[in-house]
Parts: sequence; C-alpha cells; structure tokens
Amino acid sequence: MQRHAMAIQRVANEVTDVTNDRYDMAIVGAGIVGLAHALAAVRAGMRVVVIDRDAQANGASVRNFGFVTVTGQEQGAVWRRARRSRDVWAEVGREAGIAIEQVGLAMVAQRPEALAVLEAFMATDMADGCTLLDGAAARARLGEVRPRDLAGVLFSGIDLRVESRTAIPKLAAWLAERHGVTFRRGVAVRGVETGRVETSAGPMRADTIIVCPGDDLATLFPDVLARAGVTRCKLQMLRLAAPGFRLPGAVMSDLGLVRYRGYSALPAAAAIAARLKVEQGEHLANGVHLIVTQSADGSLIVGDSHHYAATPDPFASSAVDALILDEFAAVFGFVPPVIERWTGTYASAGGHSIVETPCDGVRLVVVTSGTGASTSFALAEEVIGDLTNVRSGASA
Ligand SMILES: Cc1cc2nc3c(=O)[nH]c(=O)nc-3n(C[C@H](O)[C@H](O)[C@H](O)COP(=O)(O)OP(=O)(O)OC[C@H]3O[C@@H](n4cnc5c(N)ncnc54)[C@H](O)[C@@H]3O)c2cc1C
Repeated sequence: MQRHAMAIQRVANEVTDVTNDRYDMAIVGAGIVGLAHALAAVRAGMRVVVIDRDAQANGASVRNFGFVTVTGQEQGAVWRRARRSRDVWAEVGREAGIAIEQVGLAMVAQRPEALAVLEAFMATDMADGCTLLDGAAARARLGEVRPRDLAGVLFSGIDLRVESRTAIPKLAAWLAERHGVTFRRGVAVRGVETGRVETSAGPMRADTIIVCPGDDLATLFPDVLARAGVTRCKLQMLRLAAPGFRLPGAVMSDLGLVRYRGYSALPAAAAIAARLKVEQGEHLANGVHLIVTQSADGSLIVGDSHHYAATPDPFASSAVDALILDEFAAVFGFVPPVIERWTGTYASAGGHSIVETPCDGVRLVVVTSGTGASTSFALAEEVIGDLTNVRSGASA
C-alpha cells in the first residue's frame, strides 16, 4: 500500500516537473526535421525542449542512406536548401564529432540518352562543383566500379554522406550538451494547441510549438495532413559486405535521372525516360533506382524502392530486392553478399515539404519528398526565421 502511494507520488512529481517547465519552444519529433528546428531555435537564442515518444531514434532519419544530396535536387528553392543544409552538416559535423563518411557523387550514365541529360545538367547553374567525363577518363575515375555500359559519368564534389544511425544520436547529444536542449524521450504527444502540449507525461507549456511528426499522419493535425494530400512511402534497403575498395563517392545510375527532379525536369530527360520504360519497366513500376553509399567499415548501403500507401505493409519483398541488386550488378559488375535488410517509410506528397499554421504559435512541418537529410537544416532556418520575424513584428 505504502509502495503504491510512493509510486503515485513519483508519477505526480514527474507530471509536476513537466507541467512547471516552460520553454520558448517545444518541438514534437526528434528526427532530423525536429533536430534541425532545435538547432535553428537555439541559434536564435531560444530555450528548447524536444519531445519524442520513442526511447531512441527509430524513424526515417536513421533508416536512410545518410546521403546529403545536392546534385539532382529540384532547381530553385529545394536545390538552395540542399546547398545550405550541406554546409550546416559540414559545420555541425566538426563540432559534434559526426564524421563525414563520404564526399561527392558519381552519377553514372549507362546510355547515350542519360549522358545527354548530364550534358544538359552541366549547362545549368546546378552544375557548380560538377565535372562530366566520358570514355577512358570516366573509366579511370570510376576505378573498381565497372559499369557494363558506360556513356559517361558526372562527378560532383559537393554531396556529403553521414552514417545516420550514429549521426542522429550524436546530433541530439550535442544539442543537449552544447546547447542545453532538453530531450523528453518516451513521451507521446496527444494534442497541441497554442502555448500548450498535451503529453503522456502531463501538459507542457511553450511560447511556440513546432510539430515534426515524420510520417505519423494520424495523431496530430490529421485533418491538415489529409488536406495536404500526404500519404506514406515505403522503401527497401540493403547493406552489402565491403567490396574491398573505397567508392569514388556515392554512386547513382540512369534510373536516378527520372526520379530526381534536378535531372528529370530537364527537357533532355524525355528520351531516357522513354527508353527506361521499355528496358526497365519493372524497375520503374516498383520505384526502383540505385543509390550506393559506403560506411567507414567499407560495407555498402544500397537501395531503394518506392511503394505508396496510407499504411504500407512492413514486408521486404525479395523480388524488389532482386531488382535493386540487378541494377547494382549493371553498375558494379558484381554483387557482394547481402548482410542486412530493412524497410523505412516517409511522409509523401506532391511538393518538397509542408509548413502549416494549424493554430497561433504552432507550425506543422513535414518534409514530403524523401529529402529530409538533405534539406531540413535550411528548411528549419526558414521556419524559425519566419517565426522570429512574426514575433518581433508583433512586439514592434
Ligand atoms: C529508407 C529511406 C532512405 C532515405 N534516404 C534519404 C537520403 O539518403 N537522403 C535524404 O535526404 N533523405 C532520405 N530519406 C528521407 C529522410 O530520411 C526523411 O525525409 C527524414 O528522415 C524525415 O525526418 P523526420 O524528422 O520528419 O521523420 P522521422 O525521422 O520519422 O522522425 C519523426 C519523429 O517524430 C516522432 N513522433 C511522431 N509523432 C509523435 C507524437 N505524437 N508524439 C511524440 N513523438 C512523435 C517519432 O517517434 C519520430 O521519432 C530516406 C528515407 C527513408 C525511409
């Protein structure tokens, strides 16, 4: 009985602790989108709490390639966000002890139509930091990566890669230790209104609340997310054993030219799209394209596929894996053993992201294009900058 009373008292204390804390900003979600907002907020001088229902990062932000992709992002605002976010990763990486595992991208053109897209790309302002090689020069630069067919290769020295599984926890730890961000893990947020967050550990108060729920479309503001047409996308991923050499950068192939809008929006992309439809229709039907990144131990992260549903099934299909590995073999000339498989999901809609104001002092921020690792830091700076302007405008 006494033990029971003590337990009630302890819970009451915890609730009181939470209730008494007042923050400038509360952030729901400790994925990369939430952490990026925490960084922008502390840089703006705010006292921040991040709340996540999971005990440790478990969402898209730790399931991805860790590929901070600039080259190939949609021309204009998205590309600029990726450029800025890449610089933030480089800077934060140094301070937080997050290694940049790889620098650069080798975009392999296997067909003449693909090379034509890369030539058109080189004539745009997005080609800053890129070189296009063909023939012997391309083969020499690719080293041990030996595509069955090679029309040319675009090398970018801009793109970065971090090991997301360790980078995201390190980023959170650095935000806590260096910037005093409070993390409340294992706490589910049930409701958000102006100035107040209802959590499984009691209510919390904050002047501003940023909701970054990733692909949870059901718990917070489901009506807003439904109106924005947000659904979910499931991806299959593989880790292959170390091939015994270092890649010249992340590696992509022709299939990427029809997925990444920085290439696919160019008029020159029509011809490769038509040819791929005939030659790799099954890959396209499963949203398969090739990204290969490399970890410090030499192993390769290889993906991926794209299947869309409100609730995607959790099963990794071996037929889809075979399509991914088929493209890997076409570019590398061999396939090392598969040592790990997993699936991931992210929120998906037509545009890059949604930033909504469901009520005063609250922002709902969701990256809906599968580019959160590449663009969140800049997006968060925009959101926090906008909020800071609103606040100073209101008090002026
Ligand atoms: C397999 C895969 C590969 C990818 N590859 C890349 C890549 O190479 N480059 C790239 O730029 N992007 C990539 N992406 C996309 C990128 O990972 C996502 O855009 C990004 O991680 C989304 O971040 P997030 O913070 O919104 O979501 P998440 O990482 O899913 O985090 C959301 C968090 O919110 C928490 N949460 C939700 N609701 C609540 C609630 N009510 N209460 C408390 N907590 C809540 C969840 O627990 C979760 O921790 C990939 C995605 C996948 C799945």
